[in-house]
Amino acid sequence: MVWPDERTARRALAEAAREIYQRKLSGATDGNLSVRLANGHIATTPSGVHKGRLLPEDIVITDLLGKVQGQVREKSGRRLKPSSELALHLAAYEIRPDIGAVVHAHPPMALAYTLAGGKLSEVLVSEVVFACGEIATAPYSTPTTMQVPETLKEYLGCYDVVMMPRHGSVTVGVDLDTALGRLDALEHTAGVYVMVRLMGGASPIATQEVDKLFSLAHPQTPPYRQPGRACPPPEVPAPPLHAGAQGEEVLVQAVLSALQGRR
Ligand SMILES: [Zn+2]
Repeated sequence: MVWPDERTARRALAEAAREIYQRKLSGATDGNLSVRLANGHIATTPSGVHKGRLLPEDIVITDLLGKVQGQVREKSGRRLKPSSELALHLAAYEIRPDIGAVVHAHPPMALAYTLAGGKLSEVLVSEVVFACGEIATAPYSTPTTMQVPETLKEYLGCYDVVMMPRHGSVTVGVDLDTALGRLDALEHTAGVYVMVRLMGGASPIATQEVDKLFSLAHPQTPPYRQPGRACPPPEVPAPPLHAGAQGEEVLVQAVLSALQGRR
């Protein structure tokens, strides 16, 4: 894969950030995106800048250790800084030499569905397997702290789409279009799952049919999923903190299982 030059990456990131904001996949200053450059550096969106008004010259360049390279712009009287989740992006590039882009957003349907206890790893519609593979949900971590890359690293080593509970999504890809396409597919799928749940639910696609979809989507084992790399399961069972009508049942089951485990 040929990674883009800095000029191309700056333009692509500003355009992608605007698209994410306009489509309401993140709030104005939420989320962050990055691209791996041909010279091995990383181009990332700056911290705290409105994504709908981001300019190519606002993009910050760092090395793989997060050290800022070259000139950084001032905007509204303050010097721009790299994204507050830069450590997450750097961890993703380190564990996945095959990826060229990382997109972190706050997609509302995907967030709502996981908050309500829904499992996005369940395959209710076939096409999601082709766009996203298996969708994982990592354990909760505090945004902007080192807990985020520490928690997500092993998931990003095994999955292209990872949800952070009560926070947002991380999608990775060989290039920015692929990572953005995965965010789009994630949110579209979650929208369908939310409607299905509101309409009374549906059963997942049969296991043997899901296996068929995965072997069609990935005829060869992806390079990052080689034998020897231990992958966490896509979902950590956890009861929702605010139990709704269905959530109460989940909560009771979780408490009963915990009590049984103590005996
Ligand atoms: Zn975030």
